[in-house]
Amino acid sequence: MKLPESHELQWHSIPRVPLGFWPTPLKEASRLASTIGGPKLWIKRDDLTGFGFGGNKIRGLEFLIAEALAQQADTVITGAGAQSNSVRATTAVAVHAGMNMVVVYSGTPLDNIEGNYRLVRLLGAEVRFTGDPDRSSVDPYIETCAAELRRDGHRPYAIPRGGANTIGALGYVQAAYELAQQCAAQNISPDAIVLATGSCGTQAGLLAGVHALGLPWRVEGFTVSRPVEEVRTRIYALAQAVLGSLDLPQNLTPQEVVVHDGFIGPGYGIPTAEGAAAIRLAARSEGIFLDPTYTGKALAGLIAYAQRGLYRDHETLIFLHTGGEPALFVGEGSWLYE
Ligand SMILES: *Cc1c(COP(=O)(O)O)cnc(C)c1O
Repeated sequence: MKLPESHELQWHSIPRVPLGFWPTPLKEASRLASTIGGPKLWIKRDDLTGFGFGGNKIRGLEFLIAEALAQQADTVITGAGAQSNSVRATTAVAVHAGMNMVVVYSGTPLDNIEGNYRLVRLLGAEVRFTGDPDRSSVDPYIETCAAELRRDGHRPYAIPRGGANTIGALGYVQAAYELAQQCAAQNISPDAIVLATGSCGTQAGLLAGVHALGLPWRVEGFTVSRPVEEVRTRIYALAQAVLGSLDLPQNLTPQEVVVHDGFIGPGYGIPTAEGAAAIRLAARSEGIFLDPTYTGKALAGLIAYAQRGLYRDHETLIFLHTGGEPALFVGEGSWLYE
C-alpha cells in the first residue's frame, strides 16, 4: 500500500501539539473473534492515546489546542453532558497548555462527583450548568460564556461539543494515515473500520482520510446518540469540509457515509443489555475494557451484524476502540452483570 506523498506533505504543515503516544497499537483479537464467530477482528487501541485518560478526543485536541495557542487564547471553553469524555480530555489538555478551563454542562449541578465529572473537578475546571437537560442547550451557552469572558478582557477559545469541527476532525484524518501505515506494515487488508459515532468528528475525519488515500475500506459507524439521518448528514458535510480545508477534492459520495442504527437503546448514555453483554465479552475474552455509552454499544452492533451474516467470514474488520472507560466508574454498576 503506497501513500500519496503530496497529501503527507500538506499534512505536516498544519500546527499540532504532540500529546498522545503514536501510533496506538493495532492488535488482533482472535479470541473475541472466535467467540463472536464470523469475520477476523483487529482492535485499534485509541483508548490508549495516552494523555488525560486517553480516548479518541486526544487526536483532535492536538490540532485544536495548537490553534488556541496560535490565537494566544488564555481560556478554553467547551461543554457537553456531565459524563463527557470530550470535556475531560479537553480539560486535561487545556491545563497542560497552561490555560484556564471553563466547562458548560447541560442539566443541573450533580450530587455525585464520579467518573469523568470527578476528573474534570480534579483538574480544576470552572464548571457551569445550563439548567436545561437537553444537551444542545450547551451550544448557545458556550457562546454566551465566551462573550462574557471577552468582555472581561480574556481571550477565550471555544471548542464545540465533541471537538467536532474541521480542525478537530483532522485528528482522524491523521489516524487514517497512521492506520494505513500499520496495516501495510502488519500485512492486514481490512474490509471495514467499525466505530461508535456521537458528535461525528471521528467518523467524518476517518472517512475523509480513507477517501483521500483511496483506500478500499468501508468506514461504518454505529450511532449511539443522535438520530441516524442527522448523523449521516453531519458526517457528509463535515467530511467534505475537511477535504476542502486540506485543498483536496470534495468528491465524497453520500454512499460512502455508512451509519447503522438500532443500538442506542433507551437513549444516549443509558446502558443497554446487549451493550453490557458486549462489554463482558471483550473483558472476558481479551482483557479489554469497553465503555457503556459508546464502544460497548458499537461492539454490540458489530456482534449482531456478524451474527446476521452482514459481516462475512472471509472479511477482516478493525474495531476502533475510542476509549470512555471512566464511565465504568459511575453509579453502582449492577447493569454490568447478567
Ligand atoms: C466522543 C466519543 C466517541 C464518538 O466520537 P465522535 O467524534 O463524537 O462521534 C466514541 N467513543 C468515545 C469513548 C467517545 O468519548
